[in-house]
Amino acid sequence: MAIFEIGILGRVTWNLHSMNNEGTVGNVTEPRTVVLADGEKTDGISGEMLKHIHAYNVWLLQEDKGQFCQACQKFHPQKADMNPLIQGKDTPEKAMETAISSCILCDLHGFLVQRPAVARPSTVEFGWTLGLPEKTHREIHIHARHSMVGRSREEAEEKQAGEETVERQVPAQMIYHRPTRSGVYAIVSVFQPWRIGLNEVDYTYTIDDEKRKNRYQLAMNAYKATFMRTDGAMTSTRFPHVEAMEGVVVTSETNFPVPTISPLKDGFVEEMESLVTKQRGLSHQKFSNLAELCDIINALANKDIFRLGMPGAK
Ligand SMILES: [Zn+2]
Repeated sequence: MAIFEIGILGRVTWNLHSMNNEGTVGNVTEPRTVVLADGEKTDGISGEMLKHIHAYNVWLLQEDKGQFCQACQKFHPQKADMNPLIQGKDTPEKAMETAISSCILCDLHGFLVQRPAVARPSTVEFGWTLGLPEKTHREIHIHARHSMVGRSREEAEEKQAGEETVERQVPAQMIYHRPTRSGVYAIVSVFQPWRIGLNEVDYTYTIDDEKRKNRYQLAMNAYKATFMRTDGAMTSTRFPHVEAMEGVVVTSETNFPVPTISPLKDGFVEEMESLVTKQRGLSHQKFSNLAELCDIINALANKDIFRLGMPGAK
């Protein structure tokens, strides 16, 4: 049996964080608000944020940065589209093959190449991280900064490049409205190891199974780092107090997609326990803290990964 897909469904308790915000208007920073199916509004941290953190951990944990394309070596978001090895490749299959074989990050996290036009969806997916409405609390804190001459250093650091600045030569006090949230959040992620190294234009694997497994283990390690230290916005002054993490890891060891149930729902673990009995090859493991989740990830990382059986495949 080899790992086809992995789903991680959990509830994490974060205190006094400000990890994702709508933006700042004047001196007021607005927290990100999303609406659930029943119309209730809650606090959300976008999938982009967690995916970015996971991708950054892939970059950080890979010792040999030469295994990334030129753009990804510098963690540039353009990825394969900037890969000089792709220039001159005239077909989507050749561009895809080159992009995947020459870069771990482009392979795991996907890319978009404009010429020839070819897109690869990520093998790592994150949904919105959502506050359980009854267990999420928000406050806007007022934060004052004082400066005797000109702008304070902190204020200067916050200014974006190119933004107009007004130098003051008089004592100044700036008032900022900063959101801080505490709550229990639902996290959903799906990882598709069967697609590692797979050229999804002509459906051949571009790298051997040893390399595929190395990439798989790197992605699993990046999951551990992402949950052990979840960075986000405003962590310089609103570093989250992580209190608890619990949930279930569901695994598929046949070519059947892993099911997911939102951890927003009470009883999601029990529902998953029942669901995995409905299909051969599915299994689940519960965790009640971060260390147990890391043990599960470590054990899964030692398994082999699924390879599609294609006619004529090597
Ligand atoms: Zn790349």
